[in-house]
Amino acid sequence: MKITQADFIISAVQPHQYPEDALPEIALAGRSNVGKSSLINKMIMRKNLARTSSQPGKTQQLNYYRVNDSIYFVDFPGYGYAKVSKTQREAFGQMIERYIRDRKELKLQLLIIDIRHEPSKDDQLMYNWLKHYNIPTCIVATKADKIPKGKWDKHIKMIKTTLQADPRDKVVLYSSETGQGRDELWSVITETIST
Ligand code: GDP
Repeated sequence: MKITQADFIISAVQPHQYPEDALPEIALAGRSNVGKSSLINKMIMRKNLARTSSQPGKTQQLNYYRVNDSIYFVDFPGYGYAKVSKTQREAFGQMIERYIRDRKELKLQLLIIDIRHEPSKDDQLMYNWLKHYNIPTCIVATKADKIPKGKWDKHIKMIKTTLQADPRDKVVLYSSETGQGRDELWSVITETIST
């Protein structure tokens, strides 16, 4: 994918702030610090458009990035951050569930998992919501550069098993450090939005 344009559009707190131009949306979910911002920056070839290590307490914002005037990346708040209150956690849950359930523009959800770790309870909950609402999902196992090549298969298997992943869901091995998986992930995205 040749990137000709990439812009940060809005941190949306309320649904009325979501863009109204009906472009397909590719959303990203994952634990805080899993590498979502780095993944977006690598996908769009910008060093710092998506803020890395973005404020972990901000549980309410959907960050919209428009790419080539043809799609949006929608970055969910990272979950699993210890210092978040129960009220904030619930608000996060409501916002995300509502977005997943109601947002017609959502064409593909990327669930970002650190390849080194077993998916958390929050990852499992997120995955179950996606299945419940029938959202096309791609599991992205990132930070692949952090473990030796010989261990990739075993870790991918562990991730699929823990999530009880639907065998039809694609799993992409990714690294924002090396760019591994970038082309494959763009293919998954372009195939999904063209069908
Ligand atoms: P976010 O909170 O999910 O947006 O995570 P960030 O993108 O800010 O990444 C968290 C930390 O992990 C940063 O120090 C990144 O440099 C690092 N990181 C992210 N992706 C990768 C990767 O693919 N490989 C390696 N080695 N480090 C990564």
